Amino acid sequence: NRLSNDFQFIDVGRRDPQKKDARSRAKEFAEIYEPYKPSEAASQAHRCLHCGNPYCEWKCPVHNYIPNWLKLVSEGNILEAAEMSHRTNSLPEVCGRVCPQDRLCEGDCTLNDGFGAVTIGSVEKYITDTAFAMGWRPDMSNVTMTDKRVAVIGAGPAGLGCADVLVRNGVKPVVFDRYPEIGGLLTFGIPEFKLEKHVMERRRAVFEEMGIEFRLNTEIGRDITFEQLNDEFDAVFLGMGTYKYMVGGFPGEEMDGVYKALDFLIANANHHLGFEQDSVDYVSMAGKRVVVLGGGDTAMDCNRTSIRQGATSVTCAYRRDEENMPGSKREVKNAREEGVEFLFNRQPVAIVGEGKVEGVKLVRTRMGEPDDKGRRSAEVVPGSEEILACDAVVIAFGFQPSEIEWFDTHQIEVDERGRVLAPEIPAQMERFAYQTSNENVFAGGDMVRGSDLVVTAVYEGRQAAEGILDYLKV
Ligand code: FAD
Ligand code: SF4
Repeated sequence: NRLSNDFQFIDVGRRDPQKKDARSRAKEFAEIYEPYKPSEAASQAHRCLHCGNPYCEWKCPVHNYIPNWLKLVSEGNILEAAEMSHRTNSLPEVCGRVCPQDRLCEGDCTLNDGFGAVTIGSVEKYITDTAFAMGWRPDMSNVTMTDKRVAVIGAGPAGLGCADVLVRNGVKPVVFDRYPEIGGLLTFGIPEFKLEKHVMERRRAVFEEMGIEFRLNTEIGRDITFEQLNDEFDAVFLGMGTYKYMVGGFPGEEMDGVYKALDFLIANANHHLGFEQDSVDYVSMAGKRVVVLGGGDTAMDCNRTSIRQGATSVTCAYRRDEENMPGSKREVKNAREEGVEFLFNRQPVAIVGEGKVEGVKLVRTRMGEPDDKGRRSAEVVPGSEEILACDAVVIAFGFQPSEIEWFDTHQIEVDERGRVLAPEIPAQMERFAYQTSNENVFAGGDMVRGSDLVVTAVYEGRQAAEGILDYLKV
């Protein structure tokens, strides 16, 4: 019997889901991986060794019960696997698609020692997609609603994680977002070749059925004041992300033909979703030589979006080497296959052109000593300047927390980098997890930890909800 074989990992190698060929996928805004067939998911899940101390679980930021749901999938028990995976994660189908598994769960799989890690992310995605297709919905039959109501500002992964845990514990979440659809960066930042938009549309329907209310196209501070929310609700959760651009500080950044990464991606998403307000906001790279500056996930998404829009060439310049690049290795590989060229150890010093972009001036760098996070710095090689000719430049240097003017009036304190102070483990006994300096206000996700990952935002939103439940004595 194949499924009773404990040494399945020897007979069956790691097999990722089938990937569409690079030439055809580079023309469309659609996910590049095919779904697993049930037999593939079962045999890949059965490769798990069920280690006594599963490192994958520790490394997964939400501490998913990975070996347990892998076992259920290997037995064909998808609905129970879905129930179990939702005990720790509010968006497992999203994390399965976009987590950088190579440095999280799969990076710590014991089978990484020569056999190839279990395809944890792809199985996680398979579980939820299949369960939803079978009509499964989270079981809310044991939930009794209390009279408590919490306002959640931001429908990104942090806000959604918070709302999910609140509603499952009988507290009514009302989620406000300035955008016309839920998801935050999942909908308006991450492009469809990583996460198709119907995934969040389906999730919205499921959340609404569970009792979460969404009030979209509503910006707090503009359409509704924070005071109104604070008066109307028993507590407030802030999951507003980080939207202030980091700039390079070199000449030419304001030149015609230079675009900010997120503006470029959001305009592209709005164009495809039909939310476009003004067609001039949409930037097409068709027929252009594009240079993307940066080495993170945002830069990778700009590279691959430009390719799909029909750029004649896309070059990604990054100041460190490939080893020290922050982006997921899988996404760098996908970008390369689709035709993106990488220039490592190149730092921009100016954008040049007469009125509009004609090129980027780069200097070479070499790797220096590691910093306090273990990442090696880039040192400039004197006299190594060169100009890379191009028609458009996308700047993807990352984000810092936005400056919110109503924080001061409501005693919501931030640190020296603008991140909201909301510790997971409070310093005093009478304080709660992820509570801010205003006792009625909790916070989590990028605005607390700085730009990070979907899964860490989900984790913080969920943990903050636990803090809110304790605070409200539910
Ligand atoms: P967000 O997702 O930013 O959501 C915040 C929400 O708050 C937004 O919807 C915003 O409209 C709303 N909001 C803000 N202010 C107000 C207000 N005043 N009133 C009402 N609503 C408001 N992570 C990964 O794990 N894998 C990836 O592949 C990946 N790719 C990425 C690609 C790009 C281009 C970017 C930019 C990020 C990527 N990330 C990725 C990071 C990830 O998307 C974020 O870490 C995550 O979305 C943070 O979640 P959040 O809920 O804290 O904030
Ligand atoms: Fe891995 Fe992310 Fe899923 Fe955790 S949530 S098991 S890190 S893919």
